Amino acid sequence: MRADLPIRCACGRVRGCARDIHPGAANRVVCHCRGCRAYAAHIDREAQILDPHGGSDVFQISPAALSFEAGIEHIRCLRMTPKGALRWYAGCCDTPIAGSFHTRRVPFLSIYPACVEAEALDGPLDAYRGPVLARVNGTFDRAEAKTLKANPGALLAMLPRYAWWCLKWMASGAYKRTPLFERETAAPIAEPLVIGIADA
Ligand SMILES: [Zn+2]
Ligand SMILES: [Zn+2]
Repeated sequence: MRADLPIRCACGRVRGCARDIHPGAANRVVCHCRGCRAYAAHIDREAQILDPHGGSDVFQISPAALSFEAGIEHIRCLRMTPKGALRWYAGCCDTPIAGSFHTRRVPFLSIYPACVEAEALDGPLDAYRGPVLARVNGTFDRAEAKTLKANPGALLAMLPRYAWWCLKWMASGAYKRTPLFERETAAPIAEPLVIGIADA
């Protein structure tokens, strides 16, 4: 299934849309990095963001697919280190929204599903974001790896697709149409707050 996914923070001040999302346009991964966990802890949304294994289930989309129609002034951003990846949230109610690289030149956004207004969709969110393709950035013991880690084939299939998308979004200029970086200066729209934890 494909749809424009409505984006909405918990209090409703931030509203927007992730356009034309379907399993062929979303790389869904579960990320186990320390940065995602620190972000969840910092905005006190661990229950929403983290699964029982400490992973965050995100789907990567084109930066140009996301837009905001209200409340963009409430968007806040934090990072673990001065040069680290950026994690975006609605500061009005601490709803997680997206992760990005520190620069728009690596063109994808990882959307945290807590900001998707899933009740407004015709089908379950999984029908649009697709299945989990891989679990990344984790250290798994042998038993966990068997049940949790996506098989290497899935990861290998995902990487070329991801590389192709990035090339396409660079070449088409889609990377400049991100709502999270200023069009002219390429600076993040909110000054990133450094919370001082290694991102790996
Ligand atoms: Zn809000
Ligand atoms: Zn992560």
